[in-house]
Amino acid sequence: MISHLNINGNVVEFTLILCDIGSYCIRKRYSSMRTIITGGAGFIGSHLCDYLIKKGHEVICIDNLLTGKMDNVVHLMGNRQFRFIRHNVSDYIYVDGQVDNVLHFASPASPLDYLEFPIQTLKVGSLGTLNSLGLAKAKKARFLLASTSEVYGDPQIHPQPENYWGHVNPVGPRGVYDEAKRFAEAMTMAYHRYHDIDTRIVRIFNTYGPRMRVKDGRALPTFMCQALKDENITVFGNGLQTRSFCYISDLVEGIYQLLLSNEYEPVNIGNPEEIPIHQLAEEILTLTNSKSKMIFKPLPVDDPKIRQPDISKARTILNWEPKIPRAEGLQKTLAYFRDELTCCGKDA
Ligand code: UDP
Repeated sequence: MISHLNINGNVVEFTLILCDIGSYCIRKRYSSMRTIITGGAGFIGSHLCDYLIKKGHEVICIDNLLTGKMDNVVHLMGNRQFRFIRHNVSDYIYVDGQVDNVLHFASPASPLDYLEFPIQTLKVGSLGTLNSLGLAKAKKARFLLASTSEVYGDPQIHPQPENYWGHVNPVGPRGVYDEAKRFAEAMTMAYHRYHDIDTRIVRIFNTYGPRMRVKDGRALPTFMCQALKDENITVFGNGLQTRSFCYISDLVEGIYQLLLSNEYEPVNIGNPEEIPIHQLAEEILTLTNSKSKMIFKPLPVDDPKIRQPDISKARTILNWEPKIPRAEGLQKTLAYFRDELTCCGKDA
């Protein structure tokens, strides 16, 4: 007799066989969840691969390595629970066999990246989301979209709750990312409503940690690498614009709790502790004991002036909140960048 149990989100398949009169024992214990992660070789995607493998999932990572790196998943090669497919998900996706979850994380995600790859960003947010949803539909799988705080644009409500519709410039340079993600959310809701797909939408706020690229252009890796090399710290604008930084392990835990939940409307996941960007630079200068000086450069077009997630919904529905204080997260991230810059001599 074959039965299924749901243990911590893993469907465990087992066979009961008659051992003695009236007593059963379990013969075959397991057939794990099979989860696809698009963008699985990126910063967040690769941490999700690690996390889900630890949870017993079989993970299929699909990435075209436009901004992702094999270095992020190389330690998983040879693991029987892991498979890597090099593919651009803006093109039709084929995967054989059963699939339980499709997590769509593929996209350039730093302002520098999506300015360098505007068309690819629009395509992966639109066509890539369509193909990933199509795969989820064909496989009767659960779908989770990696959305972003950028859907709120330069917000006029603070902090940002999920029911805020945002303030986005569709034709500005950031529009390629913001509008692609807004479209992706609309597409996800349409598949939920009209095709009855089991969907989730996570709105990810600024996240940091090991495996960020040295040159991805975001404030935190840029400041850390500049400080470690005693170069000028390039603060854009007057540095009074704010962000709220969440450590990667907290984010991944929140995403997992959302995947397990029944919530199909968007949920913010981020750390509400908000700081001005010049303060982030100062904290990094102190932490690194660097001789670097802060210099001020022009503020990029449409750069949001404030950003802080309202995480009441995640607290209530998912019973989730971030645990890692910034001081601890910065230390861990600094150790990674020190290693990247010194031991490995890497520069990208
Ligand atoms: N920023 C900065 N110096 C840099 C890179 C970024 O002052 O070298 C600023 C940027 O203008 C923004 C904030 O830091 O106000 C966060 O930028 P980031 O690129 O990390 O992410 P965003 O939140 O804008 O997507």
